[in-house]
Amino acid sequence: MPIWRPYTIHCEGLSEPLRIVRAQGSYLYTDEGRALWDGTCAWWVTIHGHCHPFIAEAIANQALTLDQVLFADFTHPLAEALVEKLAKLTGLSWGFFSDDGSTAVEVAIKVALQYFYNQGEKRNRILALEGAYHGDTFGAMSVSHRTLFTQAFREFLFEVEWIPFPRDQNEANLLNILNEIAQRKDIAAFIGEPLLQGTAGMRPYASHYWDWIAGAVRKAGGLIIADEVFTGFGRTGTLFAVDQCKEKPDILCLAKGLTGGFLPLGLTLVSEKVFEAFYSPEPSKALYHGHSYTANPIACAAALANLTLWEQPDTVIRYRNLVRKQAELADLWRARYPAIPAWSIGPLFAVALPTPAPGYFAEHRYKLKSFAMERGIFLRPLGNIAYILPALSSLPEELERAVEVVEAYTVETGISV
Ligand SMILES: *Cc1c(COP(=O)(O)O)cnc(C)c1O
Repeated sequence: MPIWRPYTIHCEGLSEPLRIVRAQGSYLYTDEGRALWDGTCAWWVTIHGHCHPFIAEAIANQALTLDQVLFADFTHPLAEALVEKLAKLTGLSWGFFSDDGSTAVEVAIKVALQYFYNQGEKRNRILALEGAYHGDTFGAMSVSHRTLFTQAFREFLFEVEWIPFPRDQNEANLLNILNEIAQRKDIAAFIGEPLLQGTAGMRPYASHYWDWIAGAVRKAGGLIIADEVFTGFGRTGTLFAVDQCKEKPDILCLAKGLTGGFLPLGLTLVSEKVFEAFYSPEPSKALYHGHSYTANPIACAAALANLTLWEQPDTVIRYRNLVRKQAELADLWRARYPAIPAWSIGPLFAVALPTPAPGYFAEHRYKLKSFAMERGIFLRPLGNIAYILPALSSLPEELERAVEVVEAYTVETGISV
């Protein structure tokens, strides 16, 4: 099939993808009728389970009512209700819609830079966290860690200053850097994933580090951008990761789980203060950014249905059980295999598989993936980091089974000693 797939090495001899024709709850079904338990939430987007009937119905009804409208000239009740609800949850009252996580980040960066431009203030430095991943468009690549992914474009990416990934061992160094940052006058913004870097290898960090970094940037007069494209919708133990932080962002990016995993939709929420810099009859002060499908009503209907599901007591119970189960499994793992680091955060379970060459291209990535696939489980390790991110439809015994498969892999490959 002449279809160019994302993040895929196309080359003779590499295995062809399976064809998925149906999904339900935590399972994907191939055209040959095989069931695969999805341990990735379909690349981190599925929240309540595949084909959840409540979201599916909201989409079907909306598709028969209002499919699409030009959002520069019109608004619609679903976009309004969605921004209103999220404003209540985040304290950020203005919403700018786009199509996905990368575009939500592009909008955030453009808004931050133009915020100062509109006020005639020269600030052009952007800070990001080492190891960051914020998407694949040029601005998003620029604020992301330089890796093999961005190597071919390196000279076209704008410069960013990197803050060391916070760890207890580098606290003193981090504090020094932040003290300097707090004195500066050229910082426009800091962008970071609060509490958990996803693509970097499911790396969690304590909330006080976010507060330190955001506090220093705020002192310097810069804006705080929280990229919650991955961490949003329960990935870290609360609906949003910043719910656990004292320093709140000025700008917040949402996508991935926003529609419960049904449709692409990006949303950049900003504070009243940020929006005020754009509130002017002066044409040069408007934000000239937009996408054809901005605030697509069907995607907004899915996002509203997702939020409604989060309000159900049943969802909260399922969520808490999932979080508790993953924490238990991580405890058990640590007791059994002290040499293989394991951790959990929210509904996520992860282990760092020992390897002489850690990183995204560590061979565990391919080997564990096919090992698990043969056992009916779909995992997509980030190099030597194996993680299990289940949808809310998952049962405790399915989580146990997924961890058992990772364990069996470590035994089989002899790395569990
Ligand atoms: C996935 C991701 C993005 C990019 O989102 P897309 O929808 O894939 O463009 C941005 N930021 C973070 C933190 C992500 O995990």
